[in-house]
Amino acid sequence: MGMKFGLIGKTLKHSYSKSYILSKYASVFPGLEYETVEIPDDGRLEYFIHNTDLDGFNVTIPYKEKIIPFLSGLTDEAKSVGAVNCVRRTEAGWLGHNTDVYGFMKSIKPFYQPEWKKALILGTGGAAKAVHVALRTLDIWTAYVSRNKNKQIPDGLILTYDELTPNVLEGIQLLVNATPVGMYPNMGEMPPLPLEHIGKNHFVADLIYNPEETLLLKKCKEKGAQVLNGLSMLYFQADASVKFWTEEKK
Ligand code: NAP
Repeated sequence: MGMKFGLIGKTLKHSYSKSYILSKYASVFPGLEYETVEIPDDGRLEYFIHNTDLDGFNVTIPYKEKIIPFLSGLTDEAKSVGAVNCVRRTEAGWLGHNTDVYGFMKSIKPFYQPEWKKALILGTGGAAKAVHVALRTLDIWTAYVSRNKNKQIPDGLILTYDELTPNVLEGIQLLVNATPVGMYPNMGEMPPLPLEHIGKNHFVADLIYNPEETLLLKKCKEKGAQVLNGLSMLYFQADASVKFWTEEKK
């Protein structure tokens, strides 16, 4: 019998993970299956983890942090982010891992400039924390942007959207959207940024890949910024997930 992996999240209609993983790996691992499992609430998450027959699975919104109490261990990557997007069944129980850090790093690598010194990360969820860890390893100073002034994040400076003054935006080189704002089916939405302060000195990455060009990327491109969508990150984190599920058990 082949291996059986999957993806869990609240709504998964936007996701390309299944088609990417099956088209790339079905011939490498004969009998490979990949199931998408929509989990409507936290109670069903607990039921899923105790009853699933999957050998491993990816985790997306809103369970990347909520899954942690149900796991028996975390890899160093997952510990450093505090969020899990990839889980493997082991003899000792479920092992949580994070491949978003690797996926984001690989995706921006071809564009990286040593002049990148400061970045803003929109959002404070699991993906935002993975971007923070990735940028820190590149020695890039980061601050999170949140709707909530009182949000607490260990080891992170938080700004609100109304604190994004011309000075702040002109002082950064990199802006990363790690919120779901603008994602299918809400393509007419974008984070509330003062676009007049975005220009050709900015690199704007959006982790969203559906649509390929979010309203945010379209507007920033019009202002002269260089832009990148989340498609290559999706592929790199999926490749790293398959490797984690299938590598020789340590
Ligand atoms: P999450 O844990 O739900 O966090 C998203 C964050 O976005 C929240 O913490 C929130 O921060 C902010 N947010 C949510 N709704 C918002 C709204 N209406 N307006 C402004 N901010 C809002 O989600 P996640 O797992 O971090 O994922 C975030 C996005 O990244 C999703 O679109 C996901 O699909 C994408 N992603 C892509 C990849 C890839 O491989 N390309 C990988 C991971 C994630 P505040 O409450 O602090 O404002």
